[in-house]
Amino acid sequence: MLTPLHSQFSAGLGAAAGLGLAAGACAYAALWPNSHIFGAALIAPQRPGELALTFDDGPNPAWTPRLLDILARNSVRATFFLLGSHAQAEPELARCIAAAGHLIGNHSWSHPNLALCGRKRIQEELSRTRDELEQIAGAPVKFFRPPFGARRPAVLSLARELGMVPVLWNAMTSDWREPAAARIAQRLTAKIDQLTHQNRAANIVLHDGGHLDSAAYREPSIAAAGLLIARCKQTHRFVTLDAWT
Ligand SMILES: [Zn+2]
Repeated sequence: MLTPLHSQFSAGLGAAAGLGLAAGACAYAALWPNSHIFGAALIAPQRPGELALTFDDGPNPAWTPRLLDILARNSVRATFFLLGSHAQAEPELARCIAAAGHLIGNHSWSHPNLALCGRKRIQEELSRTRDELEQIAGAPVKFFRPPFGARRPAVLSLARELGMVPVLWNAMTSDWREPAAARIAQRLTAKIDQLTHQNRAANIVLHDGGHLDSAAYREPSIAAAGLLIARCKQTHRFVTLDAWT
């Protein structure tokens, strides 16, 4: 979820304006998904027509099972960026996600803004989550998405040292605070169409969980995933992120 960071980002921009261009450029590089100043993160390749559905902040016992049903009914595989703490609380559900053929990614243990954390804390957040997820899913965890998309060189290099590819996104809307599934799906569809015209695949973020509430209400996001699949399954191909590495 991005709300807290967006406020920090706005506040940061205000502060940066007083400090000059260098500070502004630094804030931009650390927080903006399409910035590459701090090194490569996977977003999406030039493969128009390919869609990676990714779900963040789960597993969520209240809504992830319903999402898994929708994906299974449509034979769509997705990528789930799980929080280590939520997976530890719901190991059976995390195991079900992996057993259904979905890709499991690391979204940190407790969802801190890693751009503000020291190296030791970053390492603990990433490695503890990786170990937990690998133990539950029985497979190596090769992808990491930083909470809030916030990163700095230490975050990306540590993820790589731990054997994970850092991942951002290029299609997102504020699904966690939008009550109408149709509006979420419509905004994402418009973004997908735009990316397709730009010869890009779409790396789509939705939230089946909540970092502040392990059973967060996510019906609109889950229903939006169903609408998106119905709209795109004849015209696009759904892939998991390992198809792009
Ligand atoms: Zn998140």
